[in-house]
Amino acid sequence: MHSPSRRDMLVSAGLAAALGVASRVTLIGPASAQKTPGPALPFYKYKVGEFQITEVYDGIWEKAHDPTFFKNASVDEVKSALRAAGETDEFVPIPFTPMALTRANGEVILFDPGTGGQVQPTAGKFLQNLKAAGIDPAKVTKIMISHMHPDHIFGLMEKETNAQVYPNAEIVLSVPEFKFWTDPAVLEKLPPARRGLAQRIQATFPNWKNVRQVEGEVEVAPGIRTIATPGHTPGHISFHVSSGNEQMIYSADTFYQPAFSMKTPEWQGAFDQDGPTAERSRRMLAERLVTDKILVTGYHFPWPGGGKLSRDGSAYALTLSKV
Ligand SMILES: [Zn+2]
Repeated sequence: MHSPSRRDMLVSAGLAAALGVASRVTLIGPASAQKTPGPALPFYKYKVGEFQITEVYDGIWEKAHDPTFFKNASVDEVKSALRAAGETDEFVPIPFTPMALTRANGEVILFDPGTGGQVQPTAGKFLQNLKAAGIDPAKVTKIMISHMHPDHIFGLMEKETNAQVYPNAEIVLSVPEFKFWTDPAVLEKLPPARRGLAQRIQATFPNWKNVRQVEGEVEVAPGIRTIATPGHTPGHISFHVSSGNEQMIYSADTFYQPAFSMKTPEWQGAFDQDGPTAERSRRMLAERLVTDKILVTGYHFPWPGGGKLSRDGSAYALTLSKV
């Protein structure tokens, strides 16, 4: 039985207060074998200027501890970092938190549209929770893709047929990311566990007419600009969102799980394809976030997926409650 951490309770209480409802935590049934309670409400809304931002809960991966998770940190160090962040150390909690942006004209832009229920049995609730938030998937006009890992792109395709879930939306991703995964020679270079992913990408994306590849740091929609944050994958990008005087950055997997990447950005994770480049991107983005006091969200941040960064010695600390 999971007992909610102090942070869970603070977040739940904050949410409940914001919504004027009694605080409660929804426990997932035993069939899923999931230990982490889902959020009281599976979506979280706030404004950035004229944009309505909605964080949408897709689920969580309760990753078993593994000595190869970091090249330069032991399982014991991983456990103590989790405890220091107020999280359970029984496993590594890796939530999936896609984001939706609604413009004043009702147009919806998604940022990494979830796992599609094809990555972990305890995730795949994105579409259901998007609708629960009052957002119609038919209104989605653009989808920003940070990188092509399964938890970020499988929500674009049906499980059995690979048919597009959003055939009428423009899918935006970076040139280097597309190039890397669609190069026929990549199959030989990848570890066996990643080859199926490359094959699925090669069987879908190059045939889709609604994919837009962007190079460098450019405006991809009014008020939305890409930021190059390579390392996690060769063409990983983040997105800067601004409206009026307000701004935020969707960092996707630049920080991966902040329990590690904020306090110890030098830890080299197995999840980052190029460790030193990933660390450079983390520090570059963190410096910008601290200096400009910008709200940050991340795809694997603890629910509700965002907060503010501050400096902590030569590293950083994330305060979640500022979303
Ligand atoms: Zn990810």
